[in-house]
Amino acid sequence: MLYVSTRNQEEKATASQAVMQGLASDGGLFVPEQIPKLDVPVGKLAGMTYQETAYEVMKLFLTDYTEEELKACIRNAYDEKFDTEEIAPLVAAQGAYYLELFHGRTIAFKDMALSILPHLLTTAARKNNVGNEIVILTATSGDTGKAALAGFADVEGTKIVVFYPKDGVSPIQKRQMVTQKGANTFVVGINGNFDQAQAGVKQMFSDAELAKEMADAGYQFSSANSINIGRLVPQVAYYAYAYARMIKSGDIREGEKINVVVPTGNFGNILAAFYAKNMGVPIAKLICASNENKVLYDFFSTGTYDKNREFILTSSPSMDILVSSNLERLIYRIAGDDAQANAALMRSLQETGRYEITEGMRRQLADFYGNYASEEETAEAIRKIYQESGYVIDTHTAVAAAVYEKYKKETKDLTKTVIVSTASPYKFTKSVMSAIDPKKYGDKPDFELIDELEAISKVKAPQAVEEIRTAPVVHTAVCEADQMQEAVKGFLKI
Ligand SMILES: *Cc1c(COP(=O)(O)O)cnc(C)c1O
Repeated sequence: MLYVSTRNQEEKATASQAVMQGLASDGGLFVPEQIPKLDVPVGKLAGMTYQETAYEVMKLFLTDYTEEELKACIRNAYDEKFDTEEIAPLVAAQGAYYLELFHGRTIAFKDMALSILPHLLTTAARKNNVGNEIVILTATSGDTGKAALAGFADVEGTKIVVFYPKDGVSPIQKRQMVTQKGANTFVVGINGNFDQAQAGVKQMFSDAELAKEMADAGYQFSSANSINIGRLVPQVAYYAYAYARMIKSGDIREGEKINVVVPTGNFGNILAAFYAKNMGVPIAKLICASNENKVLYDFFSTGTYDKNREFILTSSPSMDILVSSNLERLIYRIAGDDAQANAALMRSLQETGRYEITEGMRRQLADFYGNYASEEETAEAIRKIYQESGYVIDTHTAVAAAVYEKYKKETKDLTKTVIVSTASPYKFTKSVMSAIDPKKYGDKPDFELIDELEAISKVKAPQAVEEIRTAPVVHTAVCEADQMQEAVKGFLKI
């Protein structure tokens, strides 16, 4: 299977080349020429472990990795770093199934892909005889950064640079990043928002002059952002796994359709669900949940994507995004795999901040449903689910839960539904606890609320949270949004 750029079908790459490159040279994203079909019945997956399921899914996308290579990557990723053997447990609560994707090292769903990406990448470099050191360049809205740092710290042959919006992440997210150990790591706060960080990173990827300077010094860039196909493919696996678990537990019959609700920012996670559906996992509706930065809701309701609006800082910072990069992969697909049509829309986005899709393209979005949750509705969802079932969810998951309520009210659709739970409530203790009881917890800082969350949820604080309570700060760099390139050069001494 080959990958092509969403902006130029002539630019092709093998899976391992696409993983290494991250972004296509024309600024497009790599997509598989076709979405493969599962070659085992979904019922058979019900008897498999997470690792076995991941192999069944990933082997169909990463066809130039040998069985041995891919199995080694999977084994090294999904091991004791996760605090449960199930890797991604499914918890029934409040009339839905919560797929908990936060049992990895950094307690957010980014670990699902970023614990395997370093292995996919170093294997790819070896396969393609790359001698350069690989520099991972990443913009983060909070969770990618730490998950990528944890994945790449001290991995031989790599360096990693992470840019985060200095005032746009939660205190716990920030502490997680600035305490990261590893001589090959570099963490920089920018005076700007996530979109500016992402734009700066994308600019560096497509800067030919910079690429040459890098190559002369023995470096090349790669990306740990969800634009990398090596992030997307591992995420497809947990949708197949969740479905198989529901067969196994007797909650559904084999072949029965389910809905999924995904709290969405950069559109990577929900795109993985779309790929899973196209592979043959029986998914009916793909419910895209946004916070007050509801650019995707507006897109699904009007067919116009328009980022010209105020950027709102919310209690679900990992979804505070106005340019959802992975949407480009869906646009390409619904344009009939037409790179030129997609490139024209992306040019319009670049130049005017907006684009409008055709009626024909809109009709192909029938399986998507978009809605959003206000800050109040998000807090309300946390409080209600806790009060009625004792289950504590984080703010991102709560956006999804609130949108699911709206969906049910609007459609009366009673299809069994998986809500993707993307972060541990321990990552956002202040927002979570003040949603549950603003009077009692509203004035306390995040770190003081860890023990109280433990007491009310009866779920032990994860190791990751305990560690950062005492870890020393080692990263203090800050730069302006237009100085990111200089910061990278400084770190690499070029
Ligand atoms: C990254 C992230 C999201 C958004 O996922 P996308 O793939 O960017 O849409 C949602 N919730 C949490 C906790 C995240 O870290």
